[in-house]
Amino acid sequence: MENIYELTLEDWKQWMRDHEQPAYRATQLYEWLWKRDAKEISGMQNLPLPLREMLEREFRMPQIKVVERQESADGSVKYALRLEDGQQVESVLIPSRERSTVCISSQAGCPLGCRFCATAHLGFKRHLTAYEMYAQVALARSESMQLYGHALSNIVWMGMGEPLLNFDAVKSAVGRVTAADGMAMSPSRITVSTSGICPGIRRMAKEMPSVNLAVSLHSADDLQRRELMPVGKKYLLTDLSDALSAYHESTGNRITIEYMLMDKVNDTMRHAELLLKFCRRFPVKVNIIEYNPHPYAPYRPSAAGREAAFVRMLEDKNLIVNIRRSKGRDIAAACGQLVNLRRPQ
Ligand code: SF4
Repeated sequence: MENIYELTLEDWKQWMRDHEQPAYRATQLYEWLWKRDAKEISGMQNLPLPLREMLEREFRMPQIKVVERQESADGSVKYALRLEDGQQVESVLIPSRERSTVCISSQAGCPLGCRFCATAHLGFKRHLTAYEMYAQVALARSESMQLYGHALSNIVWMGMGEPLLNFDAVKSAVGRVTAADGMAMSPSRITVSTSGICPGIRRMAKEMPSVNLAVSLHSADDLQRRELMPVGKKYLLTDLSDALSAYHESTGNRITIEYMLMDKVNDTMRHAELLLKFCRRFPVKVNIIEYNPHPYAPYRPSAAGREAAFVRMLEDKNLIVNIRRSKGRDIAAACGQLVNLRRPQ
């Protein structure tokens, strides 16, 4: 049986023609799938019963299942989700004042092996489909209303996996989330975060120019970055800088630089100076992220004094700096940690 989420609207129009159905049935069906987040074909009430039965015979409708849900005292909620083939991924819903943000996964596991990352410990299982990413957003959207009483406002592709290695599916999911006949969310509320996949950054400039770009830098020292993030061996900082510069020239967008501070690893004044130098070529804002310690890496969050000195140094040179405190300390909040804990040991 074919996966019902794999067909485009054009495919459905053709399918309806082939099955002697009027063309508008394709639009109705598409809305059930991508706007109303239907869970069963039988519940698509404006489709005639014989058509629903035909669809049920030909298509399967795989759903993601919440297999664990952890609520933090700070209001954030982490979900372990099981996919159709048994793979597990995570997403996190994070409230703040009148808005909420969901952080979603693009791959089950990750092939990039960053030293500080709990997801890296899982290895790479597979890419997620566009529907599997869309479904994480749909879940967060309904949970946000139930838990906090307000709509989901922001989406960040910053969960498990490297989204720009799964470019086509991410682009398709963004398309469904932003389409008028989908969730109709603004692309300016969406951020794709990459570890620095340069060809993907160049494609983003052309194919998703209205979506925000964030780059996980974590060190502006090439040697150290290659150690912490093996992707840095393939794309040196000069390559990354060139790709970001071209991205900015083409889109005009400010780039978010994510920098996770690890105690006595990347938090010295020398590191701050290198970061400043890296940020000179294009407009940026820097998110300083508090490291979330977990059992799969030896790092600790920077001591308060070291963090303050690092931030002051950047601000004194007029960089826009936000400090992102780690959410969900009382739950398995580091990316990949919950799925690691759920694995048979
Ligand atoms: S930090 Fe991101 S890119 Fe690096 S291993 Fe973890 S999930 Fe992959």
